[in-house]
Amino acid sequence: MSLYGKYLQNLIEEFSRLPGIGSKSAARLAFHIINMEDDKAKKLANAILEAKISTQYCGLCFAITDSNPCSLCANPKRLKNTIMVVEDSRDMAAYEKTKEYKGLYHILNGVISPMLGIGPDQLKFKELLTRLDDSVEEVIVATNPTIEGEATAMYLKKLIGSIVKVTRIAHGIPVGGDLEYVDEVTLARALEGRREL
Ligand code: ZN
Repeated sequence: MSLYGKYLQNLIEEFSRLPGIGSKSAARLAFHIINMEDDKAKKLANAILEAKISTQYCGLCFAITDSNPCSLCANPKRLKNTIMVVEDSRDMAAYEKTKEYKGLYHILNGVISPMLGIGPDQLKFKELLTRLDDSVEEVIVATNPTIEGEATAMYLKKLIGSIVKVTRIAHGIPVGGDLEYVDEVTLARALEGRREL
């Protein structure tokens, strides 16, 4: 049974499935869209579809991108001797904003989390191994300083420590902090103060 007719109800339900959107916010967004001009609503719908269809993962670093390889992997100016391992594309973007890091990235697309049932096989570790040729001198582990982030760092050390130098970013970052929200100066300092694992 629906109060507003099935189409609007359907839209409210779709919104309420999004992260951080409760039922009240979902209803507010849906009503906002219903009251939009047609062409604006179409623009929004198209933006969702286009982003979904044309966005993919870079075949090298697994960043979210619309070109493969991504513009960063394809950039000849980036130093090939360092790979920074991050949890997701947003963390990569945070480091890019510091303008301090000139190397390449590898995006795991998550962290090891027994609680959530996420093991190493679901993350991009195998793909990282294939990138570790003679040109790579250092892998910087920049996972978040959470229990899962630290466990992932230790796993990486075990996995690749005998192949390449593995370093961990310093803890200028608050424990439990999210890289995405840390200011650029702190991030740059954490990178500078990295230590060998
Ligand atoms: Zn890439």
